Amino acid sequence: MLRVENLVKCYQNGNELLYALNSVSLSIEEGEFVVILGPSGSGKSTLLNVISGLETPDSGSVIYDDYEIFGLNQKELTMFRRDKTAFIFQAYHLLPFINVEANIRMGTDLKGSQNISEIIDGVGLRGLEHRLPYELSGGQQQRVSIARALAKKPDFLFCDEPTGALDEVTSKQILTYLKELQNQLEFTIIMVTHNVSIAQIASKVIKMTSGRIVEIINNAHPRNVN
Ligand code: ADP
Ligand code: ADP
Repeated sequence: MLRVENLVKCYQNGNELLYALNSVSLSIEEGEFVVILGPSGSGKSTLLNVISGLETPDSGSVIYDDYEIFGLNQKELTMFRRDKTAFIFQAYHLLPFINVEANIRMGTDLKGSQNISEIIDGVGLRGLEHRLPYELSGGQQQRVSIARALAKKPDFLFCDEPTGALDEVTSKQILTYLKELQNQLEFTIIMVTHNVSIAQIASKVIKMTSGRIVEIINNAHPRNVN
């Protein structure tokens, strides 16, 4: 269980304080597929980054099972992030001088290394393993970053607009694969998206406006990708 309590994160905006997060609380069960929806600037990415330990809040807590991640020291926090979490960003952050397969292998240990070939098939990159990132289209690069995150076999997968660079057909293929893998491995997905149709396949939808959660919808029967 993941509990988020009273998160506040402010930025200075001229003479005013801008609340990117204004007392945000929620809880997430293991194995959930959580989608965070909301207009641009509503705090979605900030929430994702704080929950994953990438950014520190001004106040509030993020508690995984029984430890508060902002009570960890820097080394413990790094280990938590390395061992338990993976990130799919909008920008791909691929290493430019190593090929697709080596990029996917980045950050995996023995736990994750056997399934690389399966993942390459799953995200539709078979045949492109030996290309360098610049030899790929934007959509293909995004698929490499998705594969790299999955190869880590994380307990928590954080995604910020993971299908933003993909066409609709590829996007559905990837989401179908992501759900299949989630059913198999039972990891938790927390995803920021503008895409309302992704919300229909989520188990929980969190709607944000101006740094606050305005609605939480629990989907007892999430749809399949269609
Ligand atoms: P969303 O992901 O919903 O578009 P963000 O979490 O990126 O929203 O941003 C929430 C608010 O916080 C926005 O008003 C944004 O301009 C502001 N913000 C985010 N990061 C910073 C930053 N590093 N410095 C100043 N303001 C920021
Ligand atoms: P996607 O929908 O996967 O983003 P695109 O429509 O952008 O694909 O690209 C179509 C094809 O063009 C791809 O199969 C890719 O191999 C090729 N391609 C796109 N950009 C490049 C590039 N910079 N170098 C080599 N091939 C490219």
